[in-house]
Amino acid sequence: MTGFDALPVAPLHRLTLDWLRPFGVELAVLRLDLIDPLISGNKWFKLLEHLRLAQQAGAPGVISLGGAHSNHLHALAAAGKRFGFATAGLLRGHPQDTPTVRDLQAYGMHLHWLGYADYRARHQTGFWLPWQQRYPGWHCVPEGGGGSLGAKGCALIVTQAKQQLAKVGWSDYDGWWLAAGTGTTLAGLVLAERGEHRVHGALAVPAGHGVPEQVEALAGRNGYHLYDASRGGFAKVDEALLAFIDASEAESAVPLEPLYTGKALMALRDQVEAGAFAPGTRLIFLHSGGLQGRRGFV
Ligand SMILES: *Cc1c(COP(=O)(O)O)cnc(C)c1O
Repeated sequence: MTGFDALPVAPLHRLTLDWLRPFGVELAVLRLDLIDPLISGNKWFKLLEHLRLAQQAGAPGVISLGGAHSNHLHALAAAGKRFGFATAGLLRGHPQDTPTVRDLQAYGMHLHWLGYADYRARHQTGFWLPWQQRYPGWHCVPEGGGGSLGAKGCALIVTQAKQQLAKVGWSDYDGWWLAAGTGTTLAGLVLAERGEHRVHGALAVPAGHGVPEQVEALAGRNGYHLYDASRGGFAKVDEALLAFIDASEAESAVPLEPLYTGKALMALRDQVEAGAFAPGTRLIFLHSGGLQGRRGFV
């Protein structure tokens, strides 16, 4: 269980789109979807500190939970395969055959389907006990890799972007734009930036899911702003969104998925067109990955 630091850096490149031009807003995209052929996205960065802990503790494997399209379980299983450690996944609901589940199996992850009631108990004390007995000494990662360890790992995202500014012809930038689900990744960027650059979070889940509270608990109140980008619900997809994704992909050749990155970029367009950013503003759009999960939707 070594070699985590050998993964390549996520490439940063300019992203020019027709709707940016009239407003003079400049965009670069940090491609977390391109860090590795197997491992992709922000979920890798959220796992990093967990894997370091597991390594230090000499854990024989790592166990976590998620749904049948989970980008998080996919990143964990792929990391296990890539770096040679055992993984187990506790899945929500009843056995399903999805492209994600097939990958988890191919990467050698032990799968356990919990049904819905047992899965709902995942935040209760004692939930992990039977699994710790079944997999003695294994490191347990909370759903989605959330929490302060997950946020801490995301500091590397900021480092990787800063290393590549010259490549896109920038000496500095004004802020980040990224999709937020639990807000863990966003909190990690806020903590790493220490107020130097503003972090704009496009919420993929509607109000009432406690995301602002979670972000505040991890990163305080300052240095970021949250926008509703959920378009009526998490995983709700509409024609305008799909048309926007098609047009963006055709123009930029950057692949997007509808749940996070597509919604985030569309919310950015809406803000740019509403005049939220002064001409000359330079933003880094974080491509948080998720393309593997898209096979289950479109
Ligand atoms: C999980 C995920 C997010 C959300 O990350 P959080 O840290 O939960 O806010 C964004 N984009 C993609 C592609 C994801 O898989």
